[in-house]
Amino acid sequence: MTCIDGKRIAADIRAELREKSAEFEKKYGKKPGLAVVLVGEDPASQVYVRNKVKGCEEAGIRSFAHYLPASASQKEVEALVSDLAADENVHGILVQLPLPAHLDAERILACIPACKDVDGFSAENIGRLAMHEEGTVACTPLGVMELLRRYQIDPCGKRAVVIGRSNIVGRPMALLLLNADATVTVCHSRTKDLKSICREADILVAAIGKPHFVTADMVKEGAVVIDVGINRVDGKLAGDVDFDAVASKTSYITPVPGGVGPMTIAMLLTNTLACAERAMR
Ligand code: NAP
Repeated sequence: MTCIDGKRIAADIRAELREKSAEFEKKYGKKPGLAVVLVGEDPASQVYVRNKVKGCEEAGIRSFAHYLPASASQKEVEALVSDLAADENVHGILVQLPLPAHLDAERILACIPACKDVDGFSAENIGRLAMHEEGTVACTPLGVMELLRRYQIDPCGKRAVVIGRSNIVGRPMALLLLNADATVTVCHSRTKDLKSICREADILVAAIGKPHFVTADMVKEGAVVIDVGINRVDGKLAGDVDFDAVASKTSYITPVPGGVGPMTIAMLLTNTLACAERAMR
């Protein structure tokens, strides 16, 4: 069994991006730029935004952090995002979710043009992914694909099972695996006989949000198990996979923390550079 080291891979990616960002700056006279918009004072969101800004610094990407009070109006947030959309120094825009309840997130996200949608959440980018065309892909599933690639795990011809069908993880994950020529099954809360479906998986991705949901009897001997889950149990982080029981059956497994988690910001930075390069074409 090999424990996939997402922390190391993410650090490698940040170092690679630093070089690529420096080349970009040399060529175009400016750094790739990422704007992050935070509305309100949610402590978890503040940590996420801080980490994204720090990640930008490490990758040689210019960050523009915009903090609006929780009382900000729909009009104010939309106006800010629209200004960022028009700003030539901003190549990617990220609105930190969740937004305060009085705001219409869908309308605010719609102000981000697809070419600056570094989260890959827009209908255009999801459509491009579904059609296997170039576009921006959601960071977490993209991070999973990068881990597979760097560990030379080729999904081609493999049976892949994704548990979860959310727009930000499960659905794009399934599409990416399909685009990589895996035979993909997507499971969700209405799936019947989940255990036996999971037992067929060569690659099993858990994106459920339930601690230790995937148990040893759901995993085929030699499977690759990717745990996207981030749950808090007694103040500690826990994945969706019962790591201690499952690990010995697997060929590769991601731990929580230190597996998929660190890849998300690394892919956000990667997406920012890709958007910046496309903007200069
Ligand atoms: P979500 O929107 O709540 O989706 C969860 C999915 O799991 C849904 O599709 C749901 O099915 C399915 N599900 C729930 N209970 C199930 C059951 N008993 N059997 C089978 N399927 C079941 O969650 P998410 O946003 O995709 O996130 C999933 C996990 O990944 C969470 O722990 C989250 O914290 C973590 N996450 C991690 C990162 C990262 O950076 N590593 C990024 C994003 C999310 P239905 O559709 O039928 O309801």
